[in-house]
Amino acid sequence: MDGTFDWGEWAWIVALSILGGEAILWIVGGYYHLRYYVRRRHEPQTWKCQPNRFLRPDQQRQAMLLSTANLVVGGLISGTLIYALQHGLNTPIYFEVAEYGWAYTLVSTAALFVIVDALAYYAHRALHAKIVFRHFHRWHHRYVATSPFVVTAMHPVEFLVFQAVTFLPLFILPFHYVSIIVVLVYVLTLNIVDHSGVRLVSRIPWQGPSMYHDDHHVYFHCNFGQHLMLWDRLHGTLRRVDRRYGADVFGGKGVPAQASGEPRDEFVSY
Ligand SMILES: [Zn+2]
Ligand SMILES: [Zn+2]
Repeated sequence: MDGTFDWGEWAWIVALSILGGEAILWIVGGYYHLRYYVRRRHEPQTWKCQPNRFLRPDQQRQAMLLSTANLVVGGLISGTLIYALQHGLNTPIYFEVAEYGWAYTLVSTAALFVIVDALAYYAHRALHAKIVFRHFHRWHHRYVATSPFVVTAMHPVEFLVFQAVTFLPLFILPFHYVSIIVVLVYVLTLNIVDHSGVRLVSRIPWQGPSMYHDDHHVYFHCNFGQHLMLWDRLHGTLRRVDRRYGADVFGGKGVPAQASGEPRDEFVSY
């Protein structure tokens, strides 16, 4: 790092980083909000994952505020990282494709996505440990019905955990800076879609349907994955219809549905 800290330059980079995140939240989120929650509000059974459940207006406002605030924190962190990179912070990040070649750049972009997705699964699963869930992750699970604006509506500590696991690989393996931007934009955008509360099946072959994460909000301790359903399949934490789940059923694998004597699909309020 060189000696002097240029506050003006730092402020510009941070402001642009914040603006980037907020633009994605409000443009993508706004699109689904207007298209479904405003225009087709009267026919939720035709499009909504949970047709009988909507966020109360105060919950929706709270989610918007919390998501927006967390993305300000996110912009502060990524902007500061970009500033530090420009001023000599030593990381394996590279700026010229020629340094590693196209083949490496493309494969490493896919690898970054898979690594970030795996880390997000394990971090999310750790957040479902009873004590961590009750102190932090419960904030995000207050929204049993989701909306696009629930995406980063979470305890700031949890948001920092996800930021940390997303940035961790950048300090270990070489990635092109555009690959990093592509993966970050993909993760935020598709997370908004997955929280939209709208029944959507993606054309992207590796991307699970929106019901996958919507079910996570309904059943709590299963379907921990972010984009790929692979990690849940591997660890047996994908929701099964013959198991009962709920806010009080920790561990990720549910309990036999029959043992509870309750209808298997009953929603559990928290
Ligand atoms: Zn969760
Ligand atoms: Zn969620």
